Parts: sequence; C-alpha cells; structure tokens
Amino acid sequence: MAHLICRCGNDMWNGKSPNDIEFWVYSDKTMDSLSFEDSIPFLSLCNKDDYNVWRCPECGRLYVFDEKGCVKSKYVYKPEE
Ligand SMILES: [Zn+2]
Repeated sequence: MAHLICRCGNDMWNGKSPNDIEFWVYSDKTMDSLSFEDSIPFLSLCNKDDYNVWRCPECGRLYVFDEKGCVKSKYVYKPEE
C-alpha cells in the first residue's frame, strides 16, 4: 500500500482492493509467453507485470513505474484535453 500525491494535489492511495487508481500493463511479448491453457490465468500474470500505472481520477495524469515497489515514476503523462 502506498500514497502518491499527484501534481494536481490529489492524494492517491492503492490500499483499497480493488481500486480505480492502479493498473497493470503487460507487453505483447509477455502475454505471448504465457500459456492461456492455464486454469488460473491470474496466477500466471501476478509476477509478469511489465509496468505499474497509477491514474489520477481528478486530472487523468498517468504515472508509469517500471519496477515493483519503485518510489519514483519513470514517466508522467498528462492528457492534452
Ligand atoms: Zn491529478
């Protein structure tokens, strides 16, 4: 569980599960490496996330982290409109 203060000032928290803050992004290469014949696909994905993304519900900014538990985001995207 962590907090992240968005540049707009909104305090985001991922402590509630499920939540609308945190997203997991998988590359096509990672998805191809998984067997979809697995009876529990979610377990196959648990340690395969390539990027962890937080989305601010107030301004829509995306904070992209490339390592689990990484404190500093690698990229920050702000919607143009
Ligand atoms: Zn924000």
